[in-house]
Amino acid sequence: MTQSTDPLRVLIVGAGFAGLTAAIECRKRGFKVILFEGNSSRRQLGDIISFGSNSGRIFCSWPGVEEKLDPLCHHSSGLDFRTYDDEFLTRQIWDSEKKYGKRFNGHRGEIHEVVWNHAIDVGVEIRLGCKVQEYFETESEAGVVVNGERIVGDVVLAGDGVRSLARTIVLGFEDKPKSSGYAVYRAWMNTETLKQNPLTAFLADPTQDQHIGWLGPDVHFLVATLQKGTACSWVLTHKDDADVEESWSAPGYVDEAIAAIPNWAPICHAIVRATPEHALVDWKLVFRDPLPTWISPKRRIALIGDAAHPFLPTSIQGASQSMEDGVTAAVCLELATKGDRGNVPEAIRAYEKIRYPRVLATQRTGVTNRDAWHKADFDYVRKNPESVKLPRQEWVLNFDCGKHAYDAYSETVESLKADPDWKPDPVL
Ligand SMILES: Cc1cc2nc3c(=O)[nH]c(=O)nc-3n(C[C@H](O)[C@H](O)[C@H](O)COP(=O)(O)OP(=O)(O)OC[C@H]3O[C@@H](n4cnc5c(N)ncnc54)[C@H](O)[C@@H]3O)c2cc1C
Repeated sequence: MTQSTDPLRVLIVGAGFAGLTAAIECRKRGFKVILFEGNSSRRQLGDIISFGSNSGRIFCSWPGVEEKLDPLCHHSSGLDFRTYDDEFLTRQIWDSEKKYGKRFNGHRGEIHEVVWNHAIDVGVEIRLGCKVQEYFETESEAGVVVNGERIVGDVVLAGDGVRSLARTIVLGFEDKPKSSGYAVYRAWMNTETLKQNPLTAFLADPTQDQHIGWLGPDVHFLVATLQKGTACSWVLTHKDDADVEESWSAPGYVDEAIAAIPNWAPICHAIVRATPEHALVDWKLVFRDPLPTWISPKRRIALIGDAAHPFLPTSIQGASQSMEDGVTAAVCLELATKGDRGNVPEAIRAYEKIRYPRVLATQRTGVTNRDAWHKADFDYVRKNPESVKLPRQEWVLNFDCGKHAYDAYSETVESLKADPDWKPDPVL
């Protein structure tokens, strides 16, 4: 065991929400953190992204962040469900926020900028234009190769997203995405055109954010407004058997989006028609089976975020679970390495064991939520409108991942000592 008073050297790959959260939480604990991001600048890509109360509490724990996020985010009191022909079904009141804590829904790029700036404020060194090409580990160290340079640390947390290179290193084989059979047209736009049409003008109401979901056979269309009626985001999830190329920037076409909802209510067509094509993305929804492990053979490289566990958007938990990973990994490293660096493998194993069952259970909710909306029998739905409400499970939302990691750590380590061959059970 290496005894050292030097801070733990944590190398983090990917400046998404997983990597940034891990970096901030590791800095808070006094570790030396270097974050490598492949892009050469911070990019404002994406549209609406949701953080439930379980990750909202992480934002709220970072000084000044909640205040910066509030004006950017959506603040409706509920979600109105309607049928594809615009019959009102039910309203889901967001009382989970009062019970479990604040949630944050807003533009990915705008929220990302706030978190990025906070990471810099707490002293995270972010190296841009640093696409990690290789990972390596020994019994005592782990590192990455970036732009031909070999950089050594004590541990690597790889948050390099759905197309993770680290995943291949950890698994020892390339894990292939599968088509989920669905794709999503996604848009973020201002409300100027919507304001001109009497059908859609209410979406620009500066006094009240709107949140409406139209449901049809195997299609759902969710619209949210925010920022005092100036911004509108919509997502249209539909059947798609095209190839499985994943991209957040593939162009979308208005006529194709309309073709996915041919006999829908005029208001749905009006919203889609009001969308400038440069603001529309066609995102193929791919899926991966849960991985057999998230950690490397010598337990010094761990996958975090989408690299470890891609989510279907209908779980509304992908970004939140990525943040929970970052906090949990930092807590485990803190507890395992007080004053020395030798227990990194213990921390990494505990991280996996603490996180895996919870992540798997939340991944399952993505499938069940999607099927509740898409496979719905609409005669049944009209008679039982409550059946379309999203389950707001307390175990998902009313959860403090940091506290849980502190509470569970010792017992987890003991259980791993008792069962050194423990492996996750990846059955979805
Ligand atoms: C461009 C983009 C737009 C998105 N838009 C939305 C959206 O609108 N709505 C939504 O719900 N979700 C969106 N997501 C996904 C969402 O951000 C994630 O599902 C979730 O936040 C988990 O984040 P993550 O940090 O695990 O992965 P990601 O957010 O995918 O971040 C991974 C990061 O790793 C970097 N990276 C990858 N490979 C390397 C490498 N070899 N070396 C260094 N860096 C590397 C990537 O550039 C990226 O910054 C988007 C993701 C991306 C990348």
